[in-house]
Order: sequence, then C-alpha cells, then structure tokens
Amino acid sequence: MHLGLTHSYAALPERFHLVRRPTPVQAPRCVVFNRPLALALGLDADAVEGQAAALFSGNVLPEDAQPLAMAYAGHQFGHFSPRLGDGRAILLGERRCPDGLLRDVQLKGAGLTPFSRGGDGRAALGPMLREYLLSEAMHALGIPTTRSLAVVATGEAVMRDGPLPGAILTRIAGSHIRVGTFQYFAAQGDVDALQRLLDFVIDRHYPDARQADNPALAVLQAVVKRQAALLADWLRVGFIHGVMNTDNMAISGETIDYGPCAFLDAYHPDQVFSAIDQQGRYAYANQPGIAQWNLTRFAETLLPLMDDDSERAIQKAGDVIQPFLGDFETRLVDHLRAKIGLVTREPDDGALLNRLLGAMQAQGADFTVSFRRLADAAEQGLCDVAGLGAWLPQWQARLQRDPQPAAERAAAMRRVNPAYIPRNHRVEAALQAATDDGDFRPFEQLLAILQRPYDEQPEVVAYQQPPAAHERVLNTFCGT
Ligand code: AMP
Ligand code: MG
Repeated sequence: MHLGLTHSYAALPERFHLVRRPTPVQAPRCVVFNRPLALALGLDADAVEGQAAALFSGNVLPEDAQPLAMAYAGHQFGHFSPRLGDGRAILLGERRCPDGLLRDVQLKGAGLTPFSRGGDGRAALGPMLREYLLSEAMHALGIPTTRSLAVVATGEAVMRDGPLPGAILTRIAGSHIRVGTFQYFAAQGDVDALQRLLDFVIDRHYPDARQADNPALAVLQAVVKRQAALLADWLRVGFIHGVMNTDNMAISGETIDYGPCAFLDAYHPDQVFSAIDQQGRYAYANQPGIAQWNLTRFAETLLPLMDDDSERAIQKAGDVIQPFLGDFETRLVDHLRAKIGLVTREPDDGALLNRLLGAMQAQGADFTVSFRRLADAAEQGLCDVAGLGAWLPQWQARLQRDPQPAAERAAAMRRVNPAYIPRNHRVEAALQAATDDGDFRPFEQLLAILQRPYDEQPEVVAYQQPPAAHERVLNTFCGT
C-alpha cells in the first residue's frame, strides 16, 4: 500500500538521521483507529483501516516509506545530553494533506534504533493509549498538538517494573523538529547543518521568514509567538505537560510528547503530578518560565545564523525572547477574561482574575468545574458558586460594566470553559480496563466524550465531576 509519503527530511544530509526499519512484532492487532483523522489527512480510511495492524505495527511498511530515526539532543531537567535522538520512534515520511500542509507519520515504539542507548525501543500499551487519548482531547479543546492515528497492540510483552503489554502509536505531527534538534548540531558547532535545518523549518512552518531581513531572527520570533500562544492555551485548560525538556518542545508550536502529563483538578499553581519531577521544575505555573528557558536555549543555537558579530547576535536574540512572558501573560489574561464572561477590557481585570485564582486555591476549588459553573451563574444571575463566596459580588459588579445579554454571555463562556477534560482518575480507569482486562469500552467512551469537551452531554455528566478523595490520582508516570 502507498500512503502518499514524501521525504523532505530524509533528503537532508546523513548526519540528520539514521535509516532504520521498524522491528517486526509477533501478533499485531489494531486496538484504536482514528477514522476522522485518517479522513482529514486525505487517506482512504477504509483501505488503511483494513491494513492497520500490519501498517501501523511496522510489520508491512507502506511501499513509499523511507524509515528513519531522527537525531536530536536535549536538556532533560536542565542537564544537557548531546545525543538523544529517536530511541524508539521511526519516521515513515510525510504526507501532503488536503489543507495543503505536510504532516509527519511516525511509529512510536517501533523497535531499536542507533539512538536507543539502554532502552528497548518499545512502548507499553497504557502509555500509548494515554498519548492517544490526551492528544485527541487537546485537539478537541482547540489546542495545537500532535495527533494520534492508531494504536496497535504488538502481542509482545515489554519489561518495565514487570511485564506489560506492548504497543505502537502512530503519531502525526506538523513536524518532529524540536529545540533539541537544533541543539544537536549547535553542540557540534555544525553551522552548515543549522542553516539547513533552519531552511527546512522555514519551508515547513514559517515561509514568511524567508523574506525577512534576518530569517533566523524571524523564525525565532515566530516560534516565540507560537509558544506564548501554546502556553496560554495549556494554562487556560489546566494542562500540565510534565516533561518540558528541550527535546519535548516542538518548533511547530504543537504540544508534543505526552508522558506524565495531567490536568488540574483542584487549582494550585504548584501542582505537579509527574513522579519523576521531584523538584517541581515543571509545575503548572512554572511552565511559562520553563518555556522561556527552552526558547533561550533555542535562540543560542541560532546565534551564528543571526549575525557574524556574536555580541550583536545576543542582543538581537535577547530582544526577541524578552517579551515572551509579557506576551504569554496578555494572552492568558485574555483567555481568562473570556472564561469569566468579559468582552471588554479594564486595567483592573488582571487583579480581579488573580483574586479569583486565589480564592480557588484557598478553597481547593476544582479549576474546570468552577469556570463552568460561572457560566451557569452568569445565565441565572446567581451569586452562588461553591468556594468563590466573596469574589462573586466583585465579578457581578464588573459584569455590570460589560454589556452583553446574560444568555449570550453564558453561551460564550461555555464555548471557552470545557465541561469535560481528561480527568486523571477517568484516564487511569480507562487505561486499566484496556490493559488489564482487554476491555476497551471505557476508553472508547471517554474518547467519545472528550471529542466534544464544550458541549453539555447530559447522559454522562458524572464525567464532569472531580475525583472523590479516594479516586484522586497523585502521581503520573511516563512509562518509558
Ligand atoms: P521521552 O522521555 O519520551 O521524551 O524520551 C527521551 C529520550 O529517551 C528520547 O531520546 C527517547 O527516544 C528515549 N527513549 C524513551 N523510551 C525509550 C525506550 N523504551 N527505548 C529506547 N529509547 C527510549
Ligand atoms: Mg521526547
């Protein structure tokens, strides 16, 4: 079968990648297939689904695949590794989609590559289902993200703490170029490779930068802008990525690498779920600062392409990075304004919003439920949302100066305040049923609910609820 793949990345010089075929698996079985995505990619969904087990396990490659593992480096929890690369992912190629954009097709968990180091090149079913569910939920929330086309169970066990069922995820991305891809060549002083990579990124993601006086600076600026928008999106829905290493930050501005990520239940700025993040480096409210740190690492790799004079290059890059946090903050405040039903701007809105978050934190109020209930309160003119007591009259007073009919305001609020997020306890339960009992119904149901996060779905309101005390998930694991 042909998937209509082209190979602009494979055409880059040899030091960008290593040719590697997926290692065949014993008994592939496609357990989830994303038909709407297949259609959006312009694939023949029936034909592809019919071959899914063979195609998306890597047992039978599409005839037009050119499988390879991408090279990259990265700062992991602040420590630089000059050579990471795809240790278990294999890029098959890219496909020109009906929207005119190229998208990578990659198999994650496809076997050993020269970058595997101590790892086994494989992935467990639970984490791959988790990535599928979370990435598709993010997409439905309207947040840029890699997508998931299929999960194939391999019929083989992978050893983690004990044996677990193995699986391969087919990941679709605008590209898999990371900050760490640039770092890989910068660490080697390979300016020629950096220039080629920059050209690739301009063609793929930032064609306008081609015309700029300083294309490298223009790309940096565009990436900074997309990351500011992305981080504001994450925070508006309570998303915590969990492993914001530079190898997990995509130059495309997509959310990438769903490991121990999680959504806030009760609001707390210091919330961390990832079991490996003992210091809270990647806590909810630290994320914008970390993004800026990562962007600074990105900027450093571009310095030789920005100006022959390194002092001037540093100055230029600094001027582009410096506004990041302010840009992020403006975008977040705009989101939060919309979340509390405001269409006008007043200088004190930031303070009003901070008092709301402070009240939520003090009361341990659920982030998602609180905002959703504000829409009900706006509609009914009520001053009653659990935990927000003294803040509500301040809000009501502000609404008086924001002319909008109550019903319209409530409807607008419901379009930006999700009712359904991938609650950690629901995700865990769905994955457990699938991996322990082979029962995919809870997974399918949760996936279906999360396709329409902003709609009231009366038959499944229980999925809006935060976890009861005994259901609360305290730690998430990346499962690598
Ligand atoms: P991650 O934490 O998933 O972002 O991965 C960090 C690095 O470890 C990347 O270079 C991965 O390719 C590599 N890696 C993660 N899991 C495995 C595995 N099971 N086998 C080989 N390499 C892996
Ligand atoms: Mg990664």
